[in-house]
Amino acid sequence: MLKVDLHIHTVHSDSPLVVADVARRARRAKVVAGICDHLSPYHKMFEAAAFDAYVADVREHGLLLGAEYCVGEEIPVDDDRLAELDYLMGGVHAVSVDGKKRFFWGTELPNDEDAFVTAYMELTLKTLAEDSLDVLAHPTYLPVPLNHRYDDVWDERRCGELWTAAAERGVAVEISGRWLVPGERQIKLALEAGVTFAVGSDAHRRAELFGVEYPRQMIERLNIPEERIFLPRRKKT
Ligand SMILES: [Zn+2]
Ligand SMILES: [Zn+2]
Repeated sequence: MLKVDLHIHTVHSDSPLVVADVARRARRAKVVAGICDHLSPYHKMFEAAAFDAYVADVREHGLLLGAEYCVGEEIPVDDDRLAELDYLMGGVHAVSVDGKKRFFWGTELPNDEDAFVTAYMELTLKTLAEDSLDVLAHPTYLPVPLNHRYDDVWDERRCGELWTAAAERGVAVEISGRWLVPGERQIKLALEAGVTFAVGSDAHRRAELFGVEYPRQMIERLNIPEERIFLPRRKKT
């Protein structure tokens, strides 16, 4: 099985990893690696000059060039620049409930869990319908205080809606080595819905690089065929 990791963060956003080091390690481990730094108002890369430096650095080291934008936030560079990327990932990192933005990290429990889940679903479906993304990052991830309800939240009905939309729009569903989502049952439903899958570690430090054991396990166990694994085309070498 081809070793792939399309979700690696570096010094260009919120990780101490440098691109040259990732490239060296990818060569050694024979991994097809993609850098996918945050492109958002909350990280370093929020204007054109920083983006251009990022593109130059990743290209210089011959890695696949991606970026992860925050779903629901404006992308801080123009379409011409975005078109330079080999792939674009969208990740839901916050959901607005009752006009209040709730970020996913932290341990505070959403006051109204159902309203939170509804808003999460709506935002994800809107993204799939309207945005031009290639990969949906860590879909179905739930904030820690809600995670004990994972299988109830991501039942057949919600998964059916999500995965059908992803399949129709040709948006790959990431299987996240870091967050261990989607769950096996949810991946099975996605497979039946006809989606393509992307493999990513969401690595932010060296020990997490190429940490794609979970997606590899799922691919093997559920017999996901190779043609259903997303591999971006390199726009420049
Ligand atoms: Zn993310
Ligand atoms: Zn990420």
